[in-house]
Amino acid sequence: MVPRLRSPKILRSSPSQTVSMKAALAMTRRIWNFSAGPAVLPETVLEEARENLLSLGNTGVGICEHSHRGKPFMAVAAEAEALCRELAGIPDDYAVLFLQGGASLQFSMVPMNLLPADRTADYLITGMWAEKALKEAKSVGKTHVACTSKDANFNYIPESCSYSDNPAYVHFTSNNTIFGTQFQSEPVGIPGSAFLVCDASSDIFSRPIDIRKYGLIYAGAQKNLGPSGVTLVIMRKDLVEAGNKNLATMLQYRTHAENESMYNTPPTFGIYLMMLVFRWIKAQGGLAAMETRNKAKAAVLYDYLKSSSLFKSTAKPGSGSQMNVTFVTGNEDKDNAFVKAAEAKGFSGLKGHRSVGGMRASIYNAFPPEGVEALVQFMKDFEASA
Ligand SMILES: *Cc1c(COP(=O)(O)O)cnc(C)c1O
Repeated sequence: MVPRLRSPKILRSSPSQTVSMKAALAMTRRIWNFSAGPAVLPETVLEEARENLLSLGNTGVGICEHSHRGKPFMAVAAEAEALCRELAGIPDDYAVLFLQGGASLQFSMVPMNLLPADRTADYLITGMWAEKALKEAKSVGKTHVACTSKDANFNYIPESCSYSDNPAYVHFTSNNTIFGTQFQSEPVGIPGSAFLVCDASSDIFSRPIDIRKYGLIYAGAQKNLGPSGVTLVIMRKDLVEAGNKNLATMLQYRTHAENESMYNTPPTFGIYLMMLVFRWIKAQGGLAAMETRNKAKAAVLYDYLKSSSLFKSTAKPGSGSQMNVTFVTGNEDKDNAFVKAAEAKGFSGLKGHRSVGGMRASIYNAFPPEGVEALVQFMKDFEASA
């Protein structure tokens, strides 16, 4: 059930009724949102954004109405970048870019910029997003599949890879949003010639990250960092320089690096929200604290799944994701009945992706631990009554 945020009566309210509208909004029950993306955001972030929609600080102009060239927004963008660098420990020889087009455009931009005609790019195929990334690279140049877990519907992370002789780069997907698997650490044994490229859309900033191990990391914001519409790219500056110069201006990383992501109008609201999310992560204690929190949340679900005689995890032990926990009853009708019953109790977004079926609980950084506890209690009750 989609909750109604405001009754039509409230929407028609006159300015003098603003107070009652505020009260009504405050009373709106926010349900447990297990959506895979766009996903739940910290409530304090949403509240601050709500205030600043009308006036950013005391500027008298809302955040969405400020020029990206004006001082107030420039300060937002500068803080977003500074906090991003601080949280992840990003060295000075890496660029931080705020782009558009989602992770999906990065599937193309990476090979267009960084895969020379005489080289090969290696891809680790651990899910549908990895397959899509590979498809785009194939249309640009030579590729090699270093490993795949397609044989078991991507329910595990392969233990070893077989790389090509001299790859330009090695691309992997750190968290497989659809299949509920996650690399526990970076792939090893990367040939010396290659730099590592990572699609970290669904686990970026969920745990500490050693940026030095990477040539380029990209992530659509809508899972762990903010709203949809902004894509974070962290990349070595020498790779920015080395990029193909014969591309459309907007498709070259250098365009965005040279113009501090303001060659054209950037997604200002998305960058603002990302800044607020970075502040929130910092206030929680940074990426190490995020990891502790995420591990604890995921353990509550996985421990229950281990003990349950009704539900079981679809990910192989050792490959399970701390961001997207996928599980099934083994019976499609029961799965559907569970999802329906859960919806009715205010647990939304639990239906698994059609390629896996069953259920998926997405529990990104901002998802509250109490929501996971509540879900497990609900699953126990459902199991007892089944
Ligand atoms: C969601 C997701 C994408 C797609 O991101 P868009 O921003 O919609 O292009 C790509 N890769 C992974 C791992 C994802 O989770």
